[in-house]
Amino acid sequence: MRYLILFVLLCLFYYFFKKVFFPSKRQEKILRRHRVESADKELVQDPQCHTYIPKETSLKAQINGEVCYFCSRECLEKFKRGT
Ligand SMILES: [Zn+2]
Repeated sequence: MRYLILFVLLCLFYYFFKKVFFPSKRQEKILRRHRVESADKELVQDPQCHTYIPKETSLKAQINGEVCYFCSRECLEKFKRGT
């Protein structure tokens, strides 16, 4: 019987913690998504394949003193090699 009470208490504890931690986590996610969305609005052009990519997800590289943004490492390497 003692174990049953302990079990119930543990369940309640778990439930309480879940309730406390879940809303904050969700809010954090929403906040992060919002931050990414606002950063995503800035588009940059890949000088290698000429596609537009969000600055946030692009690969930044400094080539000949100029900052370039690439869609992938492949494009970066290709551009560096000059092909
Ligand atoms: Zn590319």
